[in-house]
Amino acid sequence: MYIRNLFKEKKQLLSFELFPPKKDTGEESVKAAVDELVKLPADYISVTYGAGGSTSKRTADIAEYIQNTHGMAALAHLSCITADRESIELMLGDMKLRGIENVLALRGDLPADGGEIASDYRYASELVEDIRLFGGFCIGGACYPECHPDSPDLETDIENLKRKVDAGCDFLVTQMFFDNEKFYEFRELAAKKGIDIPMVAGIMPLTQASQIQRMCILSGGASLPSKFTRMIGKYENKPEALKQAGIAYAVDQITDLLANDIRGIHIYTMNKPETAKTIVSAVSSMF
Ligand code: FAD
Repeated sequence: MYIRNLFKEKKQLLSFELFPPKKDTGEESVKAAVDELVKLPADYISVTYGAGGSTSKRTADIAEYIQNTHGMAALAHLSCITADRESIELMLGDMKLRGIENVLALRGDLPADGGEIASDYRYASELVEDIRLFGGFCIGGACYPECHPDSPDLETDIENLKRKVDAGCDFLVTQMFFDNEKFYEFRELAAKKGIDIPMVAGIMPLTQASQIQRMCILSGGASLPSKFTRMIGKYENKPEALKQAGIAYAVDQITDLLANDIRGIHIYTMNKPETAKTIVSAVSSMF
Protein backbone atom coordinates (compact mmCIF):
# COMPACT_ATOMS: atom_id res chain seq x y z
CA MET A 1 0.00 0.00 0.00
CA TYR A 2 2.10 2.85 -1.28
CA ILE A 3 0.78 6.19 0.00
CA ARG A 4 1.44 7.73 -3.45
CA ASN A 5 -1.20 5.35 -4.83
CA LEU A 6 -3.68 6.38 -2.12
CA PHE A 7 -3.26 9.97 -3.35
CA LYS A 8 -4.24 8.78 -6.83
CA GLU A 9 -7.38 7.07 -5.49
CA LYS A 10 -8.60 9.83 -3.18
CA LYS A 11 -8.60 13.61 -3.33
CA GLN A 12 -7.97 14.15 0.38
CA LEU A 13 -6.37 11.71 2.81
CA LEU A 14 -6.64 11.47 6.58
CA SER A 15 -3.74 10.22 8.66
CA PHE A 16 -2.54 10.05 12.25
CA GLU A 17 0.85 10.21 13.90
CA LEU A 18 1.98 8.13 16.85
CA PHE A 19 5.25 7.95 18.71
CA PRO A 20 6.73 4.53 19.55
CA PRO A 21 7.31 3.41 23.15
CA LYS A 22 10.34 5.02 24.76
CA LYS A 23 11.15 1.72 26.47
CA ASP A 24 10.56 -1.89 25.43
CA THR A 25 7.97 -2.14 28.22
CA GLY A 26 5.65 0.50 26.72
CA GLU A 27 4.73 -1.44 23.61
CA GLU A 28 1.33 -2.65 24.80
CA SER A 29 -0.03 0.86 25.45
CA VAL A 30 1.08 2.07 22.00
CA LYS A 31 -0.46 -1.00 20.38
CA ALA A 32 -3.68 -0.30 22.31
CA ALA A 33 -3.66 3.25 20.83
CA VAL A 34 -3.16 1.73 17.35
CA ASP A 35 -6.07 -0.68 17.97
CA GLU A 36 -8.34 2.32 18.60
CA LEU A 37 -7.00 4.52 15.79
CA VAL A 38 -7.47 1.88 13.10
CA LYS A 39 -11.23 1.88 13.83
CA LEU A 40 -11.33 5.44 12.45
CA PRO A 41 -11.54 6.06 8.70
CA ALA A 42 -7.84 6.87 8.29
CA ASP A 43 -5.72 6.17 5.20
CA TYR A 44 -2.41 5.63 7.00
CA ILE A 45 -0.72 5.99 10.38
CA SER A 46 2.80 7.30 10.80
CA VAL A 47 5.25 6.34 13.55
CA THR A 48 7.94 8.77 14.64
CA TYR A 49 11.63 8.00 15.02
CA GLY A 50 13.40 8.90 18.26
CA ALA A 51 16.22 11.43 18.07
CA GLY A 52 19.49 9.83 17.02
CA GLY A 53 17.82 6.54 16.14
CA SER A 54 16.96 5.82 19.78
CA THR A 55 13.73 4.05 18.81
CA SER A 56 14.61 2.55 15.43
CA LYS A 57 13.53 -1.01 16.27
CA ARG A 58 10.41 0.10 18.15
CA THR A 59 9.42 2.42 15.27
CA ALA A 60 9.63 -0.54 12.88
CA ASP A 61 7.80 -2.83 15.36
CA ILE A 62 4.82 -0.47 15.61
CA ALA A 63 4.77 0.26 11.87
CA GLU A 64 4.80 -3.49 11.20
CA TYR A 65 1.93 -3.97 13.67
CA ILE A 66 -0.16 -1.28 11.92
CA GLN A 67 0.58 -2.73 8.50
CA ASN A 68 0.49 -6.48 9.10
CA THR A 69 -1.92 -6.92 12.01
CA HIS A 70 -4.41 -4.29 10.93
CA GLY A 71 -3.82 -4.08 7.17
CA MET A 72 -3.53 -0.29 7.29
CA ALA A 73 -0.72 1.54 5.50
CA ALA A 74 2.07 2.57 7.86
CA LEU A 75 4.54 5.38 7.35
CA ALA A 76 7.78 4.78 9.27
CA HIS A 77 9.79 7.94 10.04
CA LEU A 78 13.55 7.57 9.56
CA SER A 79 16.19 10.18 10.34
CA CYS A 80 19.78 10.19 9.11
CA ILE A 81 21.74 12.82 11.00
CA THR A 82 23.52 10.30 13.25
CA ALA A 83 23.59 7.48 10.71
CA ASP A 84 26.06 6.01 8.25
CA ARG A 85 25.06 4.58 4.88
CA GLU A 86 25.52 1.00 6.02
CA SER A 87 23.12 1.33 8.98
CA ILE A 88 20.51 3.02 6.76
CA GLU A 89 20.78 0.17 4.25
CA LEU A 90 20.35 -2.37 7.04
CA MET A 91 17.28 -0.55 8.33
CA LEU A 92 15.72 -0.31 4.88
CA GLY A 93 16.37 -4.01 4.34
CA ASP A 94 14.75 -4.81 7.69
CA MET A 95 11.71 -2.63 6.87
CA LYS A 96 11.32 -4.35 3.54
CA LEU A 97 11.34 -7.77 5.21
CA ARG A 98 8.66 -6.57 7.61
CA GLY A 99 6.47 -5.38 4.72
CA ILE A 100 6.77 -1.64 5.48
CA GLU A 101 6.48 0.27 2.21
CA ASN A 102 6.36 3.95 3.18
CA VAL A 103 9.17 5.97 4.76
CA LEU A 104 9.22 9.61 5.91
CA ALA A 105 12.83 10.58 5.16
CA LEU A 106 14.15 13.11 7.67
CA ARG A 107 17.41 14.72 8.57
CA GLY A 108 16.71 14.93 12.32
CA ASP A 109 17.66 17.83 14.56
CA LEU A 110 21.25 19.00 14.91
CA PRO A 111 22.66 19.02 18.47
CA ALA A 112 21.41 22.11 20.33
CA ASP A 113 24.97 22.93 21.48
CA GLY A 114 26.12 23.20 17.85
CA GLY A 115 28.52 20.26 18.37
CA GLU A 116 29.77 18.06 15.53
CA ILE A 117 28.17 14.67 14.88
CA ALA A 118 29.51 11.83 12.83
CA SER A 119 27.17 11.10 9.93
CA ASP A 120 27.31 10.20 6.25
CA TYR A 121 24.40 12.60 5.73
CA ARG A 122 24.00 16.37 5.91
CA TYR A 123 20.50 16.80 4.53
CA ALA A 124 17.34 14.75 4.18
CA SER A 125 17.60 15.04 0.38
CA GLU A 126 20.64 12.71 0.55
CA LEU A 127 18.60 10.15 2.48
CA VAL A 128 15.74 10.49 -0.02
CA GLU A 129 18.20 9.72 -2.80
CA ASP A 130 19.58 6.65 -1.02
CA ILE A 131 16.07 5.31 -0.32
CA ARG A 132 15.14 5.83 -3.95
CA LEU A 133 18.26 3.99 -5.10
CA PHE A 134 17.54 1.18 -2.62
CA GLY A 135 14.12 0.87 -4.26
CA GLY A 136 10.71 -0.41 -3.25
CA PHE A 137 9.58 2.46 -1.00
CA CYS A 138 7.18 5.37 -1.30
CA ILE A 139 9.03 8.36 0.18
CA GLY A 140 7.64 11.29 2.16
CA GLY A 141 9.53 14.41 3.24
CA ALA A 142 8.99 17.18 5.79
CA CYS A 143 8.29 20.82 4.96
CA TYR A 144 7.94 24.01 6.96
CA PRO A 145 5.24 26.57 6.08
CA GLU A 146 6.93 29.14 8.34
CA CYS A 147 10.52 28.27 7.33
CA HIS A 148 12.82 25.70 8.90
CA PRO A 149 14.70 27.29 11.83
CA ASP A 150 18.14 26.56 10.25
CA SER A 151 17.26 28.44 7.05
CA PRO A 152 18.03 32.14 6.58
CA ASP A 153 14.64 32.78 4.90
CA LEU A 154 11.61 31.05 3.46
CA GLU A 155 12.71 31.43 -0.15
CA THR A 156 16.02 29.63 0.52
CA ASP A 157 14.19 26.95 2.49
CA ILE A 158 11.79 26.36 -0.43
CA GLU A 159 14.74 26.12 -2.87
CA ASN A 160 16.22 23.43 -0.59
CA LEU A 161 12.83 21.73 -0.41
CA LYS A 162 12.72 21.61 -4.20
CA ARG A 163 16.10 19.76 -4.14
CA LYS A 164 14.58 17.23 -1.73
CA VAL A 165 11.49 16.78 -3.91
CA ASP A 166 13.68 16.35 -7.02
CA ALA A 167 15.73 13.71 -5.16
CA GLY A 168 12.61 11.53 -5.14
CA CYS A 169 9.93 12.54 -2.60
CA ASP A 170 6.44 11.36 -3.44
CA PHE A 171 4.63 13.64 -0.97
CA LEU A 172 5.27 16.17 1.79
CA VAL A 173 3.99 16.56 5.35
CA THR A 174 4.13 19.96 7.01
CA GLN A 175 5.35 20.97 10.38
CA MET A 176 2.41 21.90 12.66
CA PHE A 177 0.97 25.35 12.09
CA PHE A 178 -1.90 27.28 13.65
CA ASP A 179 -2.45 29.97 11.06
CA ASN A 180 -3.85 28.55 7.82
CA GLU A 181 -3.06 31.74 5.92
CA LYS A 182 0.67 31.10 6.50
CA PHE A 183 0.21 27.66 5.00
CA TYR A 184 -1.64 28.97 1.92
CA GLU A 185 1.12 31.53 1.26
CA PHE A 186 3.74 28.77 1.57
CA ARG A 187 1.82 26.41 -0.72
CA GLU A 188 1.63 29.12 -3.36
CA LEU A 189 5.36 29.93 -3.13
CA ALA A 190 6.22 26.22 -3.30
CA ALA A 191 4.00 25.78 -6.38
CA LYS A 192 5.76 28.73 -8.05
CA LYS A 193 9.08 26.92 -7.50
CA GLY A 194 7.66 23.87 -9.26
CA ILE A 195 6.82 21.76 -6.18
CA ASP A 196 3.75 19.90 -7.35
CA ILE A 197 3.62 16.71 -5.25
CA PRO A 198 0.80 16.25 -2.69
CA MET A 199 1.25 18.34 0.46
CA VAL A 200 -0.32 17.16 3.70
CA ALA A 201 -1.09 19.59 6.57
CA GLY A 202 0.16 18.58 10.01
CA ILE A 203 -2.40 19.58 12.65
CA MET A 204 -1.62 19.48 16.34
CA PRO A 205 -4.68 19.74 18.59
CA LEU A 206 -3.88 21.56 21.83
CA THR A 207 -5.45 19.50 24.60
CA GLN A 208 -3.56 20.49 27.76
CA ALA A 209 -1.72 23.52 29.06
CA SER A 210 1.50 21.53 29.62
CA GLN A 211 1.67 21.01 25.83
CA ILE A 212 1.95 24.72 25.02
CA GLN A 213 5.66 25.21 25.67
CA ARG A 214 6.64 21.93 24.00
CA MET A 215 4.48 22.75 21.00
CA CYS A 216 6.26 26.08 20.57
CA ILE A 217 9.68 24.35 20.68
CA LEU A 218 8.64 21.50 18.36
CA SER A 219 7.02 23.82 15.86
CA GLY A 220 10.19 25.88 15.57
CA GLY A 221 8.28 29.08 16.36
CA ALA A 222 4.96 28.69 14.51
CA SER A 223 2.88 31.90 14.51
CA LEU A 224 0.14 31.88 17.08
CA PRO A 225 -2.87 33.87 15.79
CA SER A 226 -4.54 36.12 18.36
CA LYS A 227 -7.67 33.95 18.47
CA PHE A 228 -5.42 31.02 19.45
CA THR A 229 -3.55 32.92 22.19
CA ARG A 230 -6.84 34.40 23.47
CA MET A 231 -8.19 30.86 23.75
CA ILE A 232 -5.14 29.75 25.74
CA GLY A 233 -5.34 32.84 27.98
CA LYS A 234 -8.99 32.23 28.76
CA TYR A 235 -8.85 28.49 29.43
CA GLU A 236 -5.31 27.60 30.49
CA ASN A 237 -6.43 27.01 34.08
CA LYS A 238 -9.58 25.09 33.08
CA PRO A 239 -8.28 21.77 31.72
CA GLU A 240 -11.57 20.43 30.34
CA ALA A 241 -12.48 23.75 28.68
CA LEU A 242 -8.97 24.07 27.19
CA LYS A 243 -9.23 20.57 25.75
CA GLN A 244 -12.63 21.30 24.17
CA ALA A 245 -11.48 24.67 22.84
CA GLY A 246 -8.22 23.17 21.48
CA ILE A 247 -10.12 20.44 19.66
CA ALA A 248 -12.64 22.99 18.31
CA TYR A 249 -9.72 25.08 17.01
CA ALA A 250 -8.21 22.06 15.24
CA VAL A 251 -11.61 21.18 13.72
CA ASP A 252 -11.96 24.75 12.47
CA GLN A 253 -8.48 24.63 10.90
CA ILE A 254 -9.20 21.28 9.23
CA THR A 255 -12.59 22.43 7.88
CA ASP A 256 -10.96 25.44 6.25
CA LEU A 257 -8.06 23.39 4.84
CA LEU A 258 -10.41 20.80 3.33
CA ALA A 259 -12.44 23.57 1.70
CA ASN A 260 -9.18 24.88 0.25
CA ASP A 261 -8.23 21.64 -1.49
CA ILE A 262 -5.62 20.34 0.92
CA ARG A 263 -4.42 16.90 -0.22
CA GLY A 264 -4.28 15.46 3.28
CA ILE A 265 -4.76 16.11 6.98
CA HIS A 266 -2.21 14.54 9.31
CA ILE A 267 -3.25 14.71 12.96
CA TYR A 268 -0.50 14.66 15.55
CA THR A 269 -2.45 12.44 17.95
CA MET A 270 0.16 12.40 20.73
CA ASN A 271 -0.95 8.77 21.22
CA LYS A 272 -4.41 9.91 22.40
CA PRO A 273 -7.04 8.10 20.31
CA GLU A 274 -9.86 9.91 22.15
CA THR A 275 -8.73 13.27 20.77
CA ALA A 276 -8.47 11.82 17.26
CA LYS A 277 -11.96 10.27 17.59
CA THR A 278 -13.55 13.57 18.63
CA ILE A 279 -11.92 15.44 15.75
CA VAL A 280 -12.77 12.78 13.19
CA SER A 281 -16.42 12.64 14.28
CA ALA A 282 -16.65 16.36 13.49
CA VAL A 283 -15.02 16.22 10.04
CA SER A 284 -15.27 12.66 8.66
CA SER A 285 -18.04 13.38 6.14
CA MET A 286 -15.95 16.18 4.61
CA PHE A 287 -13.36 13.76 3.21
P1 FAD B 1 16.18 18.89 5.63
O1 FAD B 1 15.19 18.75 4.55
O2 FAD B 1 17.54 18.35 5.40
O3 FAD B 1 16.30 20.44 5.98
C1 FAD B 1 17.03 20.85 7.12
C2 FAD B 1 17.60 22.24 6.88
O4 FAD B 1 18.67 22.18 5.91
C3 FAD B 1 16.58 23.24 6.33
O5 FAD B 1 16.86 24.49 6.88
C4 FAD B 1 16.89 23.24 4.83
O6 FAD B 1 16.53 24.45 4.19
C5 FAD B 1 18.39 23.05 4.83
N1 FAD B 1 18.89 22.39 3.60
C6 FAD B 1 18.39 21.31 3.01
N2 FAD B 1 19.11 20.98 1.92
C7 FAD B 1 20.11 21.90 1.83
C8 FAD B 1 21.19 22.10 0.93
N3 FAD B 1 21.39 21.28 -0.11
N4 FAD B 1 22.02 23.15 1.17
C9 FAD B 1 21.82 23.98 2.22
N5 FAD B 1 20.82 23.82 3.12
C10 FAD B 1 19.98 22.79 2.92
N6 FAD B 1 12.58 14.41 13.80
C11 FAD B 1 12.92 13.22 14.34
O7 FAD B 1 14.02 13.08 14.91
N7 FAD B 1 12.08 12.13 14.29
C12 FAD B 1 10.86 12.20 13.68
O8 FAD B 1 10.12 11.22 13.65
C13 FAD B 1 10.46 13.44 13.08
N8 FAD B 1 9.29 13.55 12.41
C14 FAD B 1 8.98 14.73 11.78
C15 FAD B 1 7.79 14.80 11.03
C16 FAD B 1 7.45 15.99 10.38
C17 FAD B 1 6.16 16.04 9.56
C18 FAD B 1 8.29 17.13 10.50
C19 FAD B 1 7.89 18.43 9.83
C20 FAD B 1 9.46 17.07 11.24
C21 FAD B 1 9.83 15.87 11.87
N9 FAD B 1 11.02 15.75 12.60
C22 FAD B 1 11.38 14.55 13.18
C23 FAD B 1 11.89 16.92 12.81
C24 FAD B 1 12.99 17.06 11.74
O9 FAD B 1 13.91 15.99 11.85
C25 FAD B 1 13.69 18.40 11.99
O10 FAD B 1 12.82 19.46 11.74
C26 FAD B 1 15.02 18.61 11.29
O11 FAD B 1 15.63 19.76 11.87
C27 FAD B 1 14.94 18.84 9.79
O12 FAD B 1 14.62 17.71 9.14
P2 FAD B 1 14.28 17.72 7.54
O13 FAD B 1 14.10 16.32 7.17
O14 FAD B 1 13.21 18.69 7.28
O15 FAD B 1 15.70 18.28 7.01
